[in-house]
Amino acid sequence: MKTKARRDAKKDRQNTMADRIAEYVNSPRITHRLKIGRIISCRIQGNYGDYRTQIDMKDNKKITCTCPSDYWPCKHAFALAKTYEIAPETFVDFNDVIKNLKKKTKTGLLNIIRNMILRSSESLAALGIKGFEEETREEAEEDETVDKFD
Ligand SMILES: [Zn+2]
Repeated sequence: MKTKARRDAKKDRQNTMADRIAEYVNSPRITHRLKIGRIISCRIQGNYGDYRTQIDMKDNKKITCTCPSDYWPCKHAFALAKTYEIAPETFVDFNDVIKNLKKKTKTGLLNIIRNMILRSSESLAALGIKGFEEETREEAEEDETVDKFD
């Protein structure tokens, strides 16, 4: 049976977590807001660095974040979800980007890809080029899972 003190302590922890999430929600600390199909992503200026957070809104809310938080899902994931819920218009919709890309020539597209890779070389991972992957929390956990079942 839960005592009042234990209930209060649990409530305090929840409030603290809620406060930590609230300080990020739809704040200038959440940048690069992007929606690609059912996936939303952003960068978050955290207390100890900049993190990349992503949520696949289908697929059982598959979440990735580059932060080292002990909590999982971390506060950044909650903040991203809440930000999208209350301010979806602040996200760039990739469908609109695609509409413009469809008007480009093949040479134009190749130049765009070249410029994207110059800006962020980890984009090469999307082309299957090894050594350019970005390690995320979720990928690290998947690796552990693979070891367990091997
Ligand atoms: Zn995080």
